[in-house]
Amino acid sequence: LVQLIDVHKSFGELEVLKGIDLSIQKGEVACVIGPSGSGKSTLIRCINALIPVTSGTIRVDDIEVSDPKVDKLTLRRRVGMVFQQYNLFPHKTALQNIMMAPCHVLKQDKAEVEVRARKLMAKVKLEGKENVYPGELSGGQQQRVAIARSLAMQPDVMLFDEVTAALDPETVQEVLSTIRELAEEGMTCVLVTHEMGFAREVGDHVYFTDKGTIVEHGPPQEFFAAPRDERTRKFLSQVL
Ligand code: ATP
Ligand code: MG
Repeated sequence: LVQLIDVHKSFGELEVLKGIDLSIQKGEVACVIGPSGSGKSTLIRCINALIPVTSGTIRVDDIEVSDPKVDKLTLRRRVGMVFQQYNLFPHKTALQNIMMAPCHVLKQDKAEVEVRARKLMAKVKLEGKENVYPGELSGGQQQRVAIARSLAMQPDVMLFDEVTAALDPETVQEVLSTIRELAEEGMTCVLVTHEMGFAREVGDHVYFTDKGTIVEHGPPQEFFAAPRDERTRKFLSQVL
């Protein structure tokens, strides 16, 4: 469903991605881990064309993402993204935040969108908070609204970039369990995370990046039990 072939990305002189190959099947949960500055966010942002690649090919299903003429609207309704900062609209309620893109971007029927949005509120375990403004929600609750907002576009793939990094330890689990449920329902997920326990438990495949390359990858059982590369071992010894 998601395929990257020899993807390079430079910002001016700085080469941040140096030939990334990766292939994610439908329903798979791919976890990307690695040191700060290794290019994880850059990689994930290239997948929904938030930033253009310098060279190489990215495909999401039949969409040629790396084509500069790609229809970004079509792409982004199929690829949802959630960031570390939730970026909810502060003057809209939780429900309005979820309804906004389907109503205004896709021009879908408001009543139908509302039914779906209410179901999504329930799915992320926020029933009763429909009319609450983001400022009155905890970080974990806001992040779950952000996930529901992304799901409202009915994407085929969800990208998560360190979505729990800014949260209190108690609320991290709420958000991770939302993602776990999505994964169990078969949503294809690409997840940049520092939560090694989660990667091991929920991931189907783990990719370790360092300095713009994928140093090593594999199923979590093998990856965590017997990392082959010295850089992977060093990183894991620091985070586990
Ligand atoms: P972290 O774990 O800290 O989030 P990361 O692996 O996500 O790190 P990136 O954010 O992808 O790393 O950044 C990789 C490198 O690219 C860094 O050196 C960063 O300074 C640089 N970089 C990222 N975005 C830009 C940009 N828009 N312009 C210039 N340089 C950038
Ligand atoms: Mg990052």
